[in-house]
Amino acid sequence: MKIPLMIPSITEVDIENAVRVLRSGQLIQGKEVDFLEKSIAGLVGTKHAICASNGTATLHLALVALGIGPGDEVIVPAFSYIATANVVELVGAKPVFVDIEPDTFCINASLIASQITNKTKAIMPVHEFGLMADMDAINQIAVEYNLHVIEDAACALGAKQKLLHAGATGHIGSFSFHPRKAITSGEGGVITTNDDNIAHKLRVLRNHGIEYHDGKMEFTAAGFNYRLTDFQAALMHNQLTRLQDMILYKNNLASQYATSITNASVQLPLIPEQRKHTWQTFHIIWSGKIGRNEVIAQLLAEGIGTNYGAQCIPAQKYYQAKYRLNVESLFPNANKAYNQGIALPIYDKLTHEEVNYVSEKLNKIK
Ligand SMILES: *Cc1c(COP(=O)(O)O)cnc(C)c1O
Repeated sequence: MKIPLMIPSITEVDIENAVRVLRSGQLIQGKEVDFLEKSIAGLVGTKHAICASNGTATLHLALVALGIGPGDEVIVPAFSYIATANVVELVGAKPVFVDIEPDTFCINASLIASQITNKTKAIMPVHEFGLMADMDAINQIAVEYNLHVIEDAACALGAKQKLLHAGATGHIGSFSFHPRKAITSGEGGVITTNDDNIAHKLRVLRNHGIEYHDGKMEFTAAGFNYRLTDFQAALMHNQLTRLQDMILYKNNLASQYATSITNASVQLPLIPEQRKHTWQTFHIIWSGKIGRNEVIAQLLAEGIGTNYGAQCIPAQKYYQAKYRLNVESLFPNANKAYNQGIALPIYDKLTHEEVNYVSEKLNKIK
């Protein structure tokens, strides 16, 4: 493959940092994780950051810490990575799907209120592909109906709406360090919050329910082991330092795509005003004569890696079997984004020449 969909930004310095920790023999969660947590809290602008083993564990911890369980409902977008809804199922609650906006691919805030019942406990917007959902509108609804807000910011480390960072606008923010995300430790994740009580619960639940009282270890909750390792944290220290440069460069690449893609069958992603996009994915909608899968195959034949962006979750087998929702009529935008969406390569190692090459090949497809 000439141009893969994604190449993680791992440098020799990052590798050195991880190896230094491996040589030290201190592998599990320790001072490297502490340091990363302080750096992330500083970047996002929250009082607390709590690392965990991946971006699904962080969402799971968030729901458990908020006491969400059987009989409760959580509002989620119909278009996201499947984990957003799976965690709601895993705590025994019901995901209530809401359609997305056709151009930002984020939850349509104006459709949320009609889905709220007396069982609704939380709204879980997704900052899809690195662009923040309309948090002003979502937080207004949450205040009105007294709901928690969990930002699934898995793809959106560094994103902003006006002056606030992703992960700092709701009660809890959740990020992933999967190789497809902004910075990576292979597997990993982090939760952000300003709430001392929630932060304490998250830390206890992450580590087997352990608390110390007067130096004595006590098991005060049926917790998980959702810890991050110290060598993973060290791998990300320098990536975090480079984050703003990477975001800036990806914004350049996105602007370049927006001008160099001239195929009339391609709908480009919208960038709303007052939101800083991190471009985890450059996601287009294909509406040409041939199908989306054929476009992916033709690009692959030219050495270009592309893929679907995310899933229409209620259309997936488990959710169809359980809820039988008519996705075409209920979630037309999520359904379209799922069936006609294509994620194009975008990462800091991608060159301007390569963006031109991808655009040129895409422009030739009818
Ligand atoms: C990647 C992703 C997750 C899951 O993160 P993992 O670290 O892979 O578990 C959850 N939600 C969204 C929106 C994601 O993109």
